Amino acid sequence: MHNQSEPTNATIGDDLLLGYLAENLSAEEMARVEKALRASAELRERLERARADRGDLGLHTLGAIWKRRRLTCPSRQELGGFLLDAIDPGLADYIAFHLDTIECSFCRANLADLKDKSDRRETDAEHRRKRIFHSSRGLLGDEKPG
Ligand SMILES: [Zn+2]
Repeated sequence: MHNQSEPTNATIGDDLLLGYLAENLSAEEMARVEKALRASAELRERLERARADRGDLGLHTLGAIWKRRRLTCPSRQELGGFLLDAIDPGLADYIAFHLDTIECSFCRANLADLKDKSDRRETDAEHRRKRIFHSSRGLLGDEKPG
């Protein structure tokens, strides 16, 4: 039986690439195209050609942002900004798409790590407050050491 679980470049037609550039596709189709693009340099070249043929698309579209970013993952700093809601909305959309639709495991792990670290920072501050409280209690003679 033929294995259809590995989509080939042939399954991504130029119409689909143009739809991707114009963002006329459903989220599932966008994800399918982007996953195929990430896996294939040849397909990326085809997208570049399709984009060049089509002319200027504006700079705010997902396709344009994707093109500027050259399929790179957002930096840790950008993910941190995303976490704090402190980045450009267009980039935030791209990162949300990258995380939720593309399900980039690298960035998901990175974001989870950043979340974890910011949680731990809060916990550390909490511990410091408690330590200070305890040492002042000691100074006041409520608790004898040893
Ligand atoms: Zn990523």
